[in-house]
Amino acid sequence: MASTFRLQIIAPDRIFYDDEVEMVAVSTQDGGLGVLARHIPLVAPLVIGRVKIKKGGQSKEAAISEGFIQVKRGYTRVITDSAEWPEEIDVERAEAAKKRAEELLRSRKSHVDIMRAEAALQRAIIRLRVANRL
Ligand code: ATP
Repeated sequence: MASTFRLQIIAPDRIFYDDEVEMVAVSTQDGGLGVLARHIPLVAPLVIGRVKIKKGGQSKEAAISEGFIQVKRGYTRVITDSAEWPEEIDVERAEAAKKRAEELLRSRKSHVDIMRAEAALQRAIIRLRVANRL
């Protein structure tokens, strides 16, 4: 049996996940990061993306926003601005958010507006992908 470690995923409104797992994979600013038991300790900033979790030979995934991953001996913690399982994703809401962000980007407002719209677009795209709608 594969070695396990404790994974906690913390969102502002809830402890999204807290269990022993075999593997977690996230998207960091430097690219994909897969963590198995006995991974070297590290802290890395996360980009909007999917988190993949392997437990008992089964995989599942969720959409997450920006945040951090902290890998310690026997324990990994992900802290993120938002997290949703596929079945929790409101597809209509994500489609509306995607449309709003695309319209904002087309209107070419200030620098800050563009960065915010790009992040909103990215969150919507990831939610739609995780919900299997893109
Ligand atoms: P919106 O413009 O629709 O609010 P957003 O990307 O600005 O989208 P966030 O600020 O990332 O939303 O998230 C706020 C809260 O709403 C979080 O708890 C997040 O999990 C939840 N949330 C956002 N979009 C969806 C969605 N499409 N389905 C389910 N929950 C969502």
